[in-house]
Amino acid sequence: MSEAYQTKLSIVVPCYNEEAVLKETMRELTEIMDTLVRERKISPESMILFVDDGSRDRTWQIIEQNTLTNQYVQGLKLSRNFGHQSALIAGLETAGKYSDCVISIDADLQDDVQAIYAFIEKYHEGYDIVYGVRDKRDTDTFFKKNTALTFYRLMNRMGVRLVPNHADYRLMSRRALAELMKYKEENLFLRGIVPLLGFKSTKVYYDRKERYAGESKYPLKKMIAFAIDGITSFSIAPIKFVMNLGLILVLIGMGIGIYAFVVWLLDHTISGWTSLILSIWLVGGMQLIAIGVIGEYIGKIFKETKRRPRYTIEWNTLSHKQEKPLNQGQTHSYE
Ligand code: UDP
Ligand code: MG
Repeated sequence: MSEAYQTKLSIVVPCYNEEAVLKETMRELTEIMDTLVRERKISPESMILFVDDGSRDRTWQIIEQNTLTNQYVQGLKLSRNFGHQSALIAGLETAGKYSDCVISIDADLQDDVQAIYAFIEKYHEGYDIVYGVRDKRDTDTFFKKNTALTFYRLMNRMGVRLVPNHADYRLMSRRALAELMKYKEENLFLRGIVPLLGFKSTKVYYDRKERYAGESKYPLKKMIAFAIDGITSFSIAPIKFVMNLGLILVLIGMGIGIYAFVVWLLDHTISGWTSLILSIWLVGGMQLIAIGVIGEYIGKIFKETKRRPRYTIEWNTLSHKQEKPLNQGQTHSYE
């Protein structure tokens, strides 16, 4: 038996109200699994782990049903909606216990599942992390494309190094996952953390398609929250910006002070009203911004110090299975 054949793969799929696409996603992923097993690239004990992130539709019923009929399908049901990142982490942490490598992919089939073959190829070549990078964004709406682009630029300027055009479609080896799990922050921004792990990494390019069915679970409000979270979790650039702004304002204030004094000397005191009222509003506004930015960080500290769990699993179809002992973790083959 070749070493590759023993490689247990898990595909982790976070799902939030995805009843419209789920069956098709299962069908396509199962096909890929079958092919990989047939080609002896992965073990027949590999799995597809669907994480139900507190869906209110029939998502969990569909998952549960399929665990009975599909040899690969397993399910993890979170006790409520924890959000995409937390659902993903729940899946990764659980899957990491049973497998040698884990691929994360969205449920909506926007990411080309065919790229999984290349992911596995790279894994067998000895890469610990494989990033799925989309080639073009033709299928995204004009709005989505531009907000996403602005987001990456902004993050970059704030000093957060992201792999451009990579979302959460990636492969991670067991040991890379184990390292990832050492990052205990509650607010885990995966896209920013994974590049920090190091290890031998590479990219696989694919075309991003339109959502197979259903609608985006990331409305503008969630996207903005995600961006602010990403920036404030990784960068203190906004705080520095506020401080520099403060310094500049103090300098301007000194200038105005000198001006006011001169005007007072020349007996034109009434004329100061406009500039006075202007600066009150200006400075007041900037102070509010500054307090807001600092508050954002204090809020983060407040949340992190509580060390709350990132997710709660209500039901796990894997719980009867034996976990893979850690010493068997590295089954990298270099054939
Ligand atoms: N998702 C989730 N919890 C949420 C929101 C989204 O698990 O609270 C899942 C969703 O089911 C999908 C993935 O995260 O599998 C990405 O969401 P979506 O495709 O709606 O985002 P978009 O591609 O529009 O950015
Ligand atoms: Mg999507």
